[in-house]
Amino acid sequence: MSVQDSLRLGVLAGDGIGPEIISAAVQITERALAAESVPVEWRRLRMGSEAITSDGSPLPQQTLDELDRLDAWVLGPHDNAGYPGPFRDGLSPGGTIRKRYELYSNIRPARRLSDTIPAACPSLDVVVVRENTEGFYSDRNMYDGAGEFMPTADVAMAVAVFTREACERIAHQAFRLARTRRQSVTVAHKANVLSKTTGLFRDSCVRVAEHYPGVTVRLEHIDALAALLVARPAEFDVIVAENMFGDILSDLTGQLAGSLGMAPSVNASDTKAMAQAAHGSAPDIAGRNVANPVAMILSTAMLLEWLAEKHGRPALADAATAIRDAVRRTLDDGVHTPDLGGAATTTGFTEHVLSVLAAG
Ligand code: NAD
Repeated sequence: MSVQDSLRLGVLAGDGIGPEIISAAVQITERALAAESVPVEWRRLRMGSEAITSDGSPLPQQTLDELDRLDAWVLGPHDNAGYPGPFRDGLSPGGTIRKRYELYSNIRPARRLSDTIPAACPSLDVVVVRENTEGFYSDRNMYDGAGEFMPTADVAMAVAVFTREACERIAHQAFRLARTRRQSVTVAHKANVLSKTTGLFRDSCVRVAEHYPGVTVRLEHIDALAALLVARPAEFDVIVAENMFGDILSDLTGQLAGSLGMAPSVNASDTKAMAQAAHGSAPDIAGRNVANPVAMILSTAMLLEWLAEKHGRPALADAATAIRDAVRRTLDDGVHTPDLGGAATTTGFTEHVLSVLAAG
């Protein structure tokens, strides 16, 4: 991709609040990129309930064929728990995409974005670096088939997978990131009882730490870490975790910093990346114009930063900074959605961010 090239981004709206928050992210990204004179072409792809109706699959082959040709896209949340029978029990669309493109690194920052936000842990400023391909999530940790099965109608079993290669790969991500922050990595594990699996994860991280002498390493059991994050949040910087621990922990850190509705994330391999909010499709508030769009907006900003670095296009990083600043100023202005105790609508919040961006 050259400096003048138009940016091609896939967009998969998803279910529940997905279309509402994706619309916000697309409008805001478009405006920020226009200010940097970067043209963007959105490739709208079907995914979720809509695709079950139109194509008989929540993730149609046509969508996958398009994704094969893209290196970046934004994914709205899917309501896979609400899909009809056969689709509910399989791997979710997000899980399928992560597995197909080996998006092994899931980066989930959590930080209070504005002094106006009521947060349980105002001093929390962490990034959860989550291994995304194996671990305890047995729906996606096999080459073929799933590691969760029922030998009889009354017995359910699951297989965890930990490989030294994947553990070391994600540890390098965490330590590299820590070098750009407060130089500290906490390894989340549970080797006091799961000594082989999470022991391998812990020991791989400790080994990788030798390559980063300036970064301190702290080892914490996942259960103790959950409590410590609430009791002494300021002590933590980068946290590296296996798939399921990282998923659970990042919902916790997102909420502690203000709201799950403001917890962004990017999933990446060395060649492809996907913006995806940490939260789900929130069916309880879908279609009411009350969802907080911040997580999806900031996930898209993270994607622009990933693209800026990958393609050497600083204008994309500048657009991401403008988006983040406009979101912060909107929150500073007291424009808060109901999850933050406010009365702003999703579209009202979006309009405010757009007007801040237009004002420059
Ligand atoms: P959820 O994250 O959708 O909702 C949990 C709670 O947080 C709900 O009260 C919801 O209203 C609230 N919430 C979430 N996002 C919000 C936002 N942007 N603004 C305001 N409030 C918000 O989790 P769930 O209820 O366990 O799951 C619902 C569906 O989402 C399920 O089908 C699940 O499988 C799916 N899911 C998808 C993803 C994904 O697409 N990445 C992730 C998690 C869950």
